[in-house]
Amino acid sequence: MSVFSHPEFDAHEQVAFRYDRASGLKAIIAVHNTRLGKGLGGCRMWPYASDSEALTDVLRLSRGMTYKAALAGLPQGGGKSVIIGDPRHDKTPALIQAMGRFVESLGGQYIVAEDSGTSVADMRLMAGETEYVGGLADEKSVAAGRTGDPSPATALGTFIGIQAAVKAKLGRDDLKGLKVAIQGVGNVGGRLARHLSDAGAKLWVTDLHQPAVERCVKELGAQAVPMDAVHSLDVDVYSPCALGAILNDKTIPDIKAKIVAGAANNQLAKPKHDHALLERGILYAPDYVINAGGIIDIFYEGPNYDEATVHTHLERIGHTLGQIFKHSAKEKRPTGEIADRMAEAIFRG
Ligand code: NAD
Repeated sequence: MSVFSHPEFDAHEQVAFRYDRASGLKAIIAVHNTRLGKGLGGCRMWPYASDSEALTDVLRLSRGMTYKAALAGLPQGGGKSVIIGDPRHDKTPALIQAMGRFVESLGGQYIVAEDSGTSVADMRLMAGETEYVGGLADEKSVAAGRTGDPSPATALGTFIGIQAAVKAKLGRDDLKGLKVAIQGVGNVGGRLARHLSDAGAKLWVTDLHQPAVERCVKELGAQAVPMDAVHSLDVDVYSPCALGAILNDKTIPDIKAKIVAGAANNQLAKPKHDHALLERGILYAPDYVINAGGIIDIFYEGPNYDEATVHTHLERIGHTLGQIFKHSAKEKRPTGEIADRMAEAIFRG
């Protein structure tokens, strides 16, 4: 398993490996770039089939965090960590505490947050071992009903991003009667559905989890659609809010929406699909730009959390997307590529 010559290495500043015999922890922390600030990113626990699969994942994800933080206008860098193991069977308090000590050993170069397979409770446990835990609601916030869950901010940021895309592509300022298909109405997609419905949009929704669909149908008047049809509906906006790699050779030719704008991570199966969307005249809101509400929220979490300040920052997602769309139209280059170049200009200086 190579590190410096790994295809995803991309000039990472630091890659650290930890084995803790007592708890069985096997983990990797990757810090991609700290030019703008400490490397912030979630800790993913996953039963990786091999060490090399875990390394590939952590390198790819931490690099993505650098780009996301840069375009979100945060004084932060990119980092990520992975724990090799099944969160349902292998997670113990001792293992999570050992992970906390691992984070501490990097002296603040990496700030950990929750991700797939880790929870707010795990972050609290880690916080007993390290001060470098992001996004934890303090007592005042908890008393005010906040949990540290970034999903509401991600949903609001995505809603703001959809407004920007609608303005750029359809020349409209309001969403009344706008037809939107949402794939996945979980923590983010469910809240996004509500924002859209409040703004007068008409919704088509799908989800693996039927009760989530039923809630949208009952409470928001949404129409339920089959999972394999959601991307090909004749709507204005297709909003992927579930899984990654859904913009691929099979789905792109079927998309009828003029806009693809949703919260799911890693929507493009391959970089070439950015070009395929442009060729089809579909406006794509780059995923890491439109779904940055969560890290923006985590940045402000703490004793002085102020909702209005967070909201103002979330509005910048719309502004940044507007710039990306403008450059893309002018230069006839795909939006994902434009976003990457803009982010690189910021974090490389
Ligand atoms: P979630 O697990 O709460 O919701 C995802 C929903 O998608 C679930 O209800 C699930 O049943 C459904 N789903 C899974 N596979 C599906 C399929 N094939 N078709 C239709 N529905 C399917 O997760 P979430 O927190 O809402 O996150 C959604 C997406 O947004 C993920 O890609 C996540 O990485 C990304 N994201 C989330 C945040 C955040 O703050 N939660 C921040 C940035 C990005």
